[in-house]
Amino acid sequence: MNEQFRQPSDAVSRDQLLDRLAEVAIRVGLGLQPGQELVVTAPLDAVPLARRITEHAYKAGASLVTTFFSDDQATLMRYRLGRDEGFDTAASWLYDGMAAAYKNGAARLAIVGDDPSLLAKEDPEKVSRANRARSKAYMPALSLIADSATNWTLVAAATPAWAKAVFPNDPEDVAVAKLWKAIFAASRADTPDPIAVWEQHNKTLHARRDMLNEKNYAALHFKGPGTDLRVGLAEGHKWAGGSGKTKTGIVCNANIPTEEVFTTPHKDRVDGHVTSTKPLSYNGTLIQDIQVKFESGRIVEAKARTGEAVLNKVLDTDEGARRLGEVALVPFSSPISQSGLLFLNTLFDENASSHIALGQAYSKCIRDGGGMSEEELASRGANKSLIHIDWMIGSDKVDVDGIHQDGTSEPLMRGGEWVTP
Ligand code: ZN
Ligand code: ZN
Repeated sequence: MNEQFRQPSDAVSRDQLLDRLAEVAIRVGLGLQPGQELVVTAPLDAVPLARRITEHAYKAGASLVTTFFSDDQATLMRYRLGRDEGFDTAASWLYDGMAAAYKNGAARLAIVGDDPSLLAKEDPEKVSRANRARSKAYMPALSLIADSATNWTLVAAATPAWAKAVFPNDPEDVAVAKLWKAIFAASRADTPDPIAVWEQHNKTLHARRDMLNEKNYAALHFKGPGTDLRVGLAEGHKWAGGSGKTKTGIVCNANIPTEEVFTTPHKDRVDGHVTSTKPLSYNGTLIQDIQVKFESGRIVEAKARTGEAVLNKVLDTDEGARRLGEVALVPFSSPISQSGLLFLNTLFDENASSHIALGQAYSKCIRDGGGMSEEELASRGANKSLIHIDWMIGSDKVDVDGIHQDGTSEPLMRGGEWVTP
């Protein structure tokens, strides 16, 4: 029998695609170095991908791969049966250990596949206390990640609960197959040579990043239905996008997929109002149609059609939770946006749309920010918070202007697309 008939070229098995995705995660996402340790977190339903990733990590020379699996059912038991005072508790010993590992040069990989509505029916007060305790305990580890002290990446697995949320009308196996297909496409793992495709994609994002760095805008102005927002940029802000370098010189792509270029807004220079263009799935709660008003960088009014209580609890996390830590530009023509899917997961949805993030800023998006004290970073306008939550404000109906330091402006995006190719 002809080879062609036994193995049609378009019938790449899920196993092969999983393998390609794992290779993308290790080589493009992490740039894992020989001798490096790797810390992995994953949902139980992502075991097949986690194993492939482990295999590729050892092939790339990992010294040790340690994986922590999470179980949604166990999380729910905590909410239903756990003692009340327990909701102010987090496994700080675990997060301290992770921070110690990153300090010693371990790489970090998270497989995401959360059930977007896992905690939808739980007490928002408990959800918020548990999130707060975890954010606090995770802060030392998160700071190392945010400061690019080590190489890290996020990659997704199609879990049944997530797939059913994205494709509610399909039987579970069909939904899972559809979500995998979308993940492989968005992660560029469905191409014959994903590593080369990623190289080209990084080049495109770097060109956009360099253009914006050269412009050195004072602010961006977003205008669209329900949105008229001026986002001042931090002094000495730097744009990032595509692969970046850790402090230790390792080239990595922190998000698989990624379509964004992003920078640090000025925490005191955001004014106007903005309406979200996609639902935000936040730790098991769906927050839809967010409408907020900013004054001198601070959110003074916040509404949402669903999840408003959770949103307001999030905003009360700390002073920095009401201010912006990131602004990102993504064209409407991005492949994830064109898929037309609402993934109910920030890793995907933020890459379908221009967005802003409440909370912690990235010091790497400030020139020489890596070596600055907290006071210095704050004086440039970089925000500080326990949280960092991206939500989507771009669409084909939103225009963006760049405002120069002298106050003149120029069109940057029209109808959701870059004005210059
Ligand atoms: Zn972003
Ligand atoms: Zn972000």
